[in-house]
Amino acid sequence: MSSQWIYLSGEYVDKSEAVVSVYDHGFLYGDGVFEGIRVYDGNIFKLEEHLNRLYDSAKSIMLHIPYEKEELEQIIAETVRKNQLETAYIRVVVSRGAGNLGLDPTSCIEPRVVVIAEALALFPKELYERGVRLASASSRRNRPDILPPQVKSLNYLNNILVKMEANQAGVDEALMLNDQGYVTEGSADNIFIVKNGTIYTPPVYLGALEGITRNAIIDLAEEKGYEMKQEPFTRHDVYVADEVFLTGTAAEVIAVVEVDQRQVGDGKPGVITSHLLSEFRKITTTDGVQVYPSKDKVQVS
Ligand code: PMP
Repeated sequence: MSSQWIYLSGEYVDKSEAVVSVYDHGFLYGDGVFEGIRVYDGNIFKLEEHLNRLYDSAKSIMLHIPYEKEELEQIIAETVRKNQLETAYIRVVVSRGAGNLGLDPTSCIEPRVVVIAEALALFPKELYERGVRLASASSRRNRPDILPPQVKSLNYLNNILVKMEANQAGVDEALMLNDQGYVTEGSADNIFIVKNGTIYTPPVYLGALEGITRNAIIDLAEEKGYEMKQEPFTRHDVYVADEVFLTGTAAEVIAVVEVDQRQVGDGKPGVITSHLLSEFRKITTTDGVQVYPSKDKVQVS
């Protein structure tokens, strides 16, 4: 088996050697930021948007990324090339770095930058055909004035807790509400509902990550002539929606067919959901940064 190269603060190392200190504050305190990015047939989808979100998240928590965006873009593309990947999932992590055991980040001298690229295990096709089931979680989404959900930080405990609730309820994904009971998002995806032909998604200030897929779907929906609104809505609105779907880097666009044991629409993926998924798939190989500019893509030396 060929080795897997991982970028680790300045060098490409084999997966077996890609380790960070147990004193890293990313490990000790979840102090850091990350991105999950997808490569479709040699195209790093929406790389610029992912980098903008990464740098914004880092700025928000006063974490200095020791590279210009263009440098990090090159490092990410090179990690994909070095691993000879065409269809892949990329994880970029920037942690505060090693410090002492106190939580004060001033003891952390050097941030760690990690880029992992690996072959992607796609969501099974059946999941898109049958749709997913949701249950609303009792844990509420972090309030934006406590830990802003727009910061894609390494602290994902809020999301992990609701995912555990979904597992316990025997469904595929959790529906997260904010402290006022408005719908925010799933554990790792944004939510949309369709009612009488209009598409709604919650404004991010209610407590959601500003998903790259979310934004792409908003653009596509508008382009295709749908009425698209970013407005608050409640669980009731989800229960009585004609269609519900989730968006995310991993999920792309996936229909929701049941929420808290209420069937959505006729219990099958809706027409608008399916239309947006097919439109989305059209842009995944073109909208982004090409890893292999020349025609002879993967060169095995
Ligand atoms: N919300 C949360 C909490 C997430 O972790 C993700 C995955 N990054 C999303 C939404 C979807 O965002 P994106 O479309 O950028 O993957």
